[in-house]
Amino acid sequence: MVDFDGFGPEKIVQVYHPKTGMKGVVVIDNTALGPGKGGIRMTETVSVDEVSKLARAMTWKCALADLPFGGAKSGIMADPKKISPQHKKEIVKAFAEALKVVCPEMYVAAPDMYMAEEEMRIFVEANGSMKAATGKPKDMGGIPHELGSTGFGVFHATKVAVEHKKLDLDGMTFAVEGFGNVGEFAAKFLTEEGAKMVCASDSKGCIYSKDGLDFGKLKEIKEKLGSVTNYPKGNVLANREIIKTDADILVTAAIPNLILPGDIDSVKAKFIIEGSNIPMTPQVEAMLHKKGKMIIPDFVANAGGVISSYVEYSGGTEKEMFKLVEKKVQKNTKLVLEESGKNMVPRDAAMEIAVSRVMKECRTCNVKPKNF
Ligand code: NAD
Repeated sequence: MVDFDGFGPEKIVQVYHPKTGMKGVVVIDNTALGPGKGGIRMTETVSVDEVSKLARAMTWKCALADLPFGGAKSGIMADPKKISPQHKKEIVKAFAEALKVVCPEMYVAAPDMYMAEEEMRIFVEANGSMKAATGKPKDMGGIPHELGSTGFGVFHATKVAVEHKKLDLDGMTFAVEGFGNVGEFAAKFLTEEGAKMVCASDSKGCIYSKDGLDFGKLKEIKEKLGSVTNYPKGNVLANREIIKTDADILVTAAIPNLILPGDIDSVKAKFIIEGSNIPMTPQVEAMLHKKGKMIIPDFVANAGGVISSYVEYSGGTEKEMFKLVEKKVQKNTKLVLEESGKNMVPRDAAMEIAVSRVMKECRTCNVKPKNF
């Protein structure tokens, strides 16, 4: 069931193309700030309900990032593992043609599950406008996510959080859960700022050394041997042990629901920076906040990716992307921490900011959304 409220969704378009069997949906949640931005996912089970929840999350994410984008999301119901590459191309092309009624005026696409750069090429070519999607290949003006925009933003969110407590990253210790795109770049920039990486994890486990892990060596080992656990010095632990690591900062960059209610007393880090989406529920965040932990919520800390998308959409360069990610993530993290003061959970402060930005520009909005 789609949850309609005072903000949206404004438009739900379901499309079907009998010849290819393409079945899809786009949910445009709210366009007060600009065209709805959100990825296309291709899974067998994707539903209107799932897409509408993700579209709403994009409304808040874009508003908090302070971008001229609203929120949207789309889905194609197909099992990418069961169809041939040719059939997948035909489906993506048919989806793009069917979405011309709203894209790019009200909807700007991007990659999501089982949709990557080459699918964006097909999508944009079939749509006819370069503004129809971001996440395009480099030869079409795309800004690749391998540049590390999200990890770079996570680093800046960490820096602001630490400075808010009148501390300096230089000499502080950190642990990074998930040494992938987000985690590796966050670790790189934190290390360059003088912070010491004492623990890193991936799907195989985690490596801990109180003397520190050398970033360059760890990256090489992960690339060559497939896992951080092959690092030659330190203790190899189960991956969830990272929660208990004796580090000043914990950067999450892998799985949802990493920290569970039963973990509250084990978390040692004073700062938790959410690079991954929903690494804990808002209830767990509130409990940790009560214990004096500073948590920078996901949609504040990991906005680097969507900011990079905006730079691509506007025809900007890689250099401009890094500048804008730094500026916006720093500004918004500061704002959230100032608004949250001593008693408010940063997530609630961030939501207040996002909602008020949308409310200010929205001609069709009625009351504050439900569940807020
Ligand atoms: P990725 O696939 O590049 O890396 C994920 C890493 O996590 C891999 O090293 C993998 O081995 C590791 N991992 C998997 N299971 C693990 C476990 N149980 N414990 C520890 N590590 C585990 O993915 P990514 O792009 O870095 O994304 C990471 C998270 O950040 C995801 O939640 C994603 O939704 C979120 N995110 C990513 C971006 C982006 O731009 N990439 C933007 C916003 C949010």
